[in-house]
Amino acid sequence: MVNIADTLNTFELAVPTTRSSLENLITLHRRGGGKYFRDIFLESRSYRAGQITRNNCPTRVVWYKARLDKMCANIITRTARLSVGAISQCSRRFNSTGGLSFELSEEQKEIRSTLKRVVAEEYIPKAAHHDATGEYPWNMMRKLHELGFLNTHIPEEYGGSDLDCVAGSIISEELGYGCTGMQTAFDGNNLAQAPLIVAANENQKKKYLGRMTDEFLMCAYAVTEPGAGSDVAGIKTKAEKKGDDYVINGQKMWITNAGVANWYFVLAKTSSDSGAPSSKAFSGFIVDADSPGVTVGRKEDNMGQRCSDTRGISFEDVVVPKENLLGKEGDGFKIAMTAFDRTRPVVASSATGLAQRALDESTKYSLERRTMGKAIAEHQAIAFMLADMAINVELARTACLKAAWMYDNGYPSTFYASVAKAFAADAANKCATDAVQIFGGAGFNKEYPVEKLMRDAKIFQIYEGTAQIQRLIISRGHMSKYLGK
Ligand SMILES: Cc1cc2nc3c(=O)[nH]c(=O)nc-3n(C[C@H](O)[C@H](O)[C@H](O)COP(=O)(O)OP(=O)(O)OC[C@H]3O[C@@H](n4cnc5c(N)ncnc54)[C@H](O)[C@@H]3O)c2cc1C
Repeated sequence: MVNIADTLNTFELAVPTTRSSLENLITLHRRGGGKYFRDIFLESRSYRAGQITRNNCPTRVVWYKARLDKMCANIITRTARLSVGAISQCSRRFNSTGGLSFELSEEQKEIRSTLKRVVAEEYIPKAAHHDATGEYPWNMMRKLHELGFLNTHIPEEYGGSDLDCVAGSIISEELGYGCTGMQTAFDGNNLAQAPLIVAANENQKKKYLGRMTDEFLMCAYAVTEPGAGSDVAGIKTKAEKKGDDYVINGQKMWITNAGVANWYFVLAKTSSDSGAPSSKAFSGFIVDADSPGVTVGRKEDNMGQRCSDTRGISFEDVVVPKENLLGKEGDGFKIAMTAFDRTRPVVASSATGLAQRALDESTKYSLERRTMGKAIAEHQAIAFMLADMAINVELARTACLKAAWMYDNGYPSTFYASVAKAFAADAANKCATDAVQIFGGAGFNKEYPVEKLMRDAKIFQIYEGTAQIQRLIISRGHMSKYLGK
């Protein structure tokens, strides 16, 4: 017999485990998530009533159990995801009320503390294994999906939790603290979805963003090619219009999540005019990963962030329906670049998480390790290194949150996103290198945590725009103020 009481208990238990307490949920309910909680409670009540009649009909028991199990699984996932949505609405309300404040809202603190716990209990213990084997962190991604922390910027109408960029940065910093390889796997989704959030029409959003929240799926942003990374305008992949379709030919390289993605955002050249400016020459497409003609390359053997899936992709006569064109033909370059205003503060926050981890590990070690009769933390040379690390962490975090806040509040944020990305990437590298130094010989050894941090940190100065490209953007933004552009 189906034990409905147990199943409903599972639902009731799920509520306090996804947030810290039932009272907290009720508060969230009042502050904006009411619609969803009402639905959930009504659903559970109607099933409770259904139990009385349907349990008397043995032929329906198996069907009923399956429905009930599925419903409870959905409720658990939705409860987690939608309470995150309610948190987002509350944060926005709090954020828009006053002037300058460095105080996180209660809800933002809640996000941070939930993730701190998940990262400490589940990410950090598994990070070394994923680093050594390169195994994709499926379980971690699934857990984030269940908790509603994957795909957080997808709007509510497509099933997402619609978190703002500040909340996204908080999540990213905590995940980056645990393992930036896992965070990059996670962030591949945000990067791929950002062009759709910026430019997709209603049908595209329903189909491709909705799919990401209904199911547990990954996606990828495919712009870089073997011959063009920083020089995005130099990409060669072509999309030719043939009847109602586009036919894509070309190669992409270094694509995060390429081997695990359900679909790709692909930037391709649609103009046959070799003199066309980049603002007109390229278009963005959504390409299903299982389209005939798509071939995914081997997993690249990278220096750091080794569990993230990086591969090349080749497109050979890949037919894409015109319905999968994002915006208008020629809009692609702008769409692909605009996405970075949203994603750079988040990736910079992951670098900040790594820097914080380097600082924490070094501080603990330097308080235990003794030389010349005292803890090495008491040698001024070490204490000042820790002070420099703390300066870097504080400033990186502030730059990330400012860039995210500018984006959330509708200010032009490209300059600030690049400041955050450039500074946090350098901070992560400086802190990780100094951590290895503080650990001495142990810092160079895989039994200790900091050599991984040093290997993982380097990519922050390369992907999502290199350190040099960020400075190009910052210098242009800076000069424009003087030149009045
Ligand atoms: C692990 C990993 C994951 C990645 N994930 C993705 C992804 O998901 N999607 C995606 O599309 N791409 C991805 N990339 C690609 C990444 O964004 C590019 O590697 C990066 O933009 C640099 O491009 P490049 O490798 O072609 O280097 P190049 O552009 O050839 O640059 C080489 C060097 O020259 C410098 N340089 C280039 N142009 C200038 C200039 N004008 N002024 C000053 N210096 C300059 C660069 O800063 C760099 O130091 C990933 C890369 C890696 C390694």
